[in-house]
Amino acid sequence: MSEEESHWIRNTVIAVVVLAIMGWLASYIPGVWSWVKATATLFLSWFVFSKVPVPVWLLALLLIAALLVLARFAGSLFNRRSSNGPNWLEYKNDLFHGVRWRWTFGASGMILNLSCFCPRDDTALAYAERFDGRTSFKCGKCGATFGPIRGDREHVIAMIERQIDRKLRNDEWKRKNPTVAP
Ligand SMILES: [Zn+2]
Repeated sequence: MSEEESHWIRNTVIAVVVLAIMGWLASYIPGVWSWVKATATLFLSWFVFSKVPVPVWLLALLLIAALLVLARFAGSLFNRRSSNGPNWLEYKNDLFHGVRWRWTFGASGMILNLSCFCPRDDTALAYAERFDGRTSFKCGKCGATFGPIRGDREHVIAMIERQIDRKLRNDEWKRKNPTVAP
């Protein structure tokens, strides 16, 4: 929704609330409703039955303006539908090396807070850097171990970030994750 649209909606809501309060207050003044009704009826009968001679060019201009407004409205409806597709900011988790990874995006789109979870019970995994320079991950709840993956923890994190970056760049994440899990 554009800023202009949200302002328009906010102003309409304010106007409706103000009118409702005024109507509620007016109901306390005796005779005000019959006066409002009489005035409205008078205005309506004037509006419906009065005839004003209008030049054809003005009528044509009004018609064109109405058509343009309708076309713009239809266009905005169509655009809204097409922009409902998946947004890359929704891609915040994925399975790599049999482990569920989650992350957030910083303001400039950089990957932050990358951490891994047990694919079975979603418990955050503890990592262990092994003597052979590889890193394994262990679930404290179900006891499952994952890996080992080559490199120390920093190395593994950087490698996963590169995979996320690749999937983002070539739109692979859209195909492999038709429904992005929470
Ligand atoms: Zn587990």
